[in-house]
Amino acid sequence: MTIASVNPATGETFATFEPLSSADLEQKLQRAVEAFAINRARSFADRATRMRRAAEILDARAQELARTITLEMGKPINAAVSEVQKCALVCRHYAEHAEQYLADEHVQTEARESYVRFEPIGAVLAVMPWNFPFWQVFRFAAPALMAGNVGLLKHASNVPQSAIAIEDIFREAGFDGHEFQTLLITSDQVAALLDDERIKAATLTGSEPAGASVASNAAKRIKKTVLELGGSDPFIVMPSADLDAAVTTGIKARIVNNGQSCIAAKRFIVHEDVASEFQSRFVAAMKSLRLGDPLDGSTDVGPLATPQIVNDIEKQVDASVAAGAKLLTGGRRAGDKGNFYEPTVLADIPPDAPAYAEETFGPVASLFRVKNIGEAIALANATTFGLGASVWTRDDDEQKRFVDGIESGQVFVNAMVASDPRVPFGGVKHSGFGRELGVYGIREFVNIKTVWVAS
Ligand code: NAP
Repeated sequence: MTIASVNPATGETFATFEPLSSADLEQKLQRAVEAFAINRARSFADRATRMRRAAEILDARAQELARTITLEMGKPINAAVSEVQKCALVCRHYAEHAEQYLADEHVQTEARESYVRFEPIGAVLAVMPWNFPFWQVFRFAAPALMAGNVGLLKHASNVPQSAIAIEDIFREAGFDGHEFQTLLITSDQVAALLDDERIKAATLTGSEPAGASVASNAAKRIKKTVLELGGSDPFIVMPSADLDAAVTTGIKARIVNNGQSCIAAKRFIVHEDVASEFQSRFVAAMKSLRLGDPLDGSTDVGPLATPQIVNDIEKQVDASVAAGAKLLTGGRRAGDKGNFYEPTVLADIPPDAPAYAEETFGPVASLFRVKNIGEAIALANATTFGLGASVWTRDDDEQKRFVDGIESGQVFVNAMVASDPRVPFGGVKHSGFGRELGVYGIREFVNIKTVWVAS
């Protein structure tokens, strides 16, 4: 794949980059080793000063950085501004809490003193996707750098300018000894990197095949990985739900990031008592969305990031309709240029249709009717994924049954699934393993040392 910025709204290529040569890579790896010595020797307070400066830079340059994001991957400009601001939040969160998250943990034993110490691990390779080109990187980099590690970023090939901008931000913030480096490389250069002893661990956010490849290559050299993969999140609506809020939030949860979010609501599972009402309001709201130029602040849905994603979504919808699903709105490409696809709703989806359980990475909602909570939970779990779930009910017992019964990394009740620096984020089943954010996120890439002082 070539490394290039191609505007998804127009198809115009506006920057291309040559992948790094092996000599360039060698130099960067050596710098990472030197940078680790510098960053691990710093105090938490020293790292925090730099991390807070990164947050200030992000806030000050939010508009300009958001424009880079939108031009490279097509999300609506206001969402891109929010993404940059959220990165400032995660920098501040770890600046404030890293020391406490990684403080020695004393354990009561018969020893005179026994405790657990957390130590930085070294250079962590982050293989990242284009869908949140800043947020995905900062939620890895802020805890990694605060823990004393150093980061090497292999970003998706279609967001090189975002990748370069992020390296610049960390450098300007005072991580100026190569503690964070962007590697402009293609995915087939990743295996050799994982083979290099100077890389100590890897984190990948992306698809299952990419995750399996990175994790297995890392395992050959006994390196730890964190995988944040896909999802086919259920959004369940029960009769006691606030239907207005469920419809409004359901739309937002489906079209967030033009439908290209791992935790977007993808399968709407609605109790039969409210299914017709939910469906008619939901379809009307999907029809009223503004599809168009992502740089225009009034646009609800912009283009998909690449022509390949439009092809994939078109295939999934067409195959689902061919298998018997009913198309309630959308189902077509839009515009005479760019990667636009109409907001789409499918119903009566048979189990062998792609829209039944596969991840649909675009503005395509699958509607299902169920008779009771047992059926709702069974259908929610009828996917290989297990990332998030949003459930809508005001009944306390139902809330508990959903929390207990749904197989996922996070369950949100009467709210859409979202990531937040304060709480861990990650999946179960084929959605991956390991966690980002909160205290668990910063503890993924540290060595745990048990200290036992007998006398
Ligand atoms: P992707 O094709 O897997 O790409 C993600 C990253 O992996 C890119 O940097 C890509 O590089 C690289 N890559 C691809 N194949 C690789 C391989 N064999 N070895 C090493 N690196 C490889 O994923 P995507 O289509 O861009 O992203 C969408 C997927 O990410 C969706 O499934 C979505 O749900 C998931 N996602 C998950 C989360 C989460 O937190 N769980 C968050 C966001 C997205 P190139 O660009 O150079 O190919």
